[in-house]
Amino acid sequence: MLSMLAKLNFAADVLFLAELYPFSVTSWGRTVERNKAVGGARRSRHIDFAAVDFVLDAGASHRDALIAMARKLGCRVIPENDHIHIEATRAHERGELAAVTASAGSARSAWGGPPRRRKAGQTKQT
Ligand SMILES: [Zn+2]
Repeated sequence: MLSMLAKLNFAADVLFLAELYPFSVTSWGRTVERNKAVGGARRSRHIDFAAVDFVLDAGASHRDALIAMARKLGCRVIPENDHIHIEATRAHERGELAAVTASAGSARSAWGGPPRRRKAGQTKQT
């Protein structure tokens, strides 16, 4: 069983990867019942919200680069016929949110950063 920190590190890696190599998530966490219904492995990391399945847009050319980066981040990658499965490993039991730290600059520019604090007396602009 992975710790909450490991699962958060994995989730951060997924966000980091999506920022670099756009993809669509088709499955993330599952209940035991849902996992059975879709034929998932009995001990699937999906049950622990520590695995993600995703697909690339038609014509996307970044599949190999995405897989290489996911592995570099410590994810286990299983390319399937119609999707790519990535999951957390013990490598995600690290002491900090590494991907968040690494991607903070680019994430901030894409997201625009947190809302600026208004100075006292300033009125809200809508
Ligand atoms: Zn999967």
